[in-house]
Amino acid sequence: MSKGFQEKIVFPEIYSLSYKPKSGCEFFDVIERNGSYFAKCKILDSFITRSKVSKCENLWMDCPYRRLGLKHLSGAKS
Ligand code: SF4
Repeated sequence: MSKGFQEKIVFPEIYSLSYKPKSGCEFFDVIERNGSYFAKCKILDSFITRSKVSKCENLWMDCPYRRLGLKHLSGAKS
């Protein structure tokens, strides 16, 4: 479980999901709390609002933050 479990979530109602979201993005993380799910972006180091989660689920390959993250990772390896 990520450290997010201990994090305080301010205004949880704008982040909470009734289903466990899934994304092919390697920077996508999900935590469960009190029966609700919260999606988190490891690049932005922040929770993803409910209204934006579908982009991470369906359009993650085109996400500019993901591109930045991958570029950073490839730079870190060389
Ligand atoms: S915002 Fe982009 S990088 Fe972050 S989890 Fe969603 S798809 Fe991945």
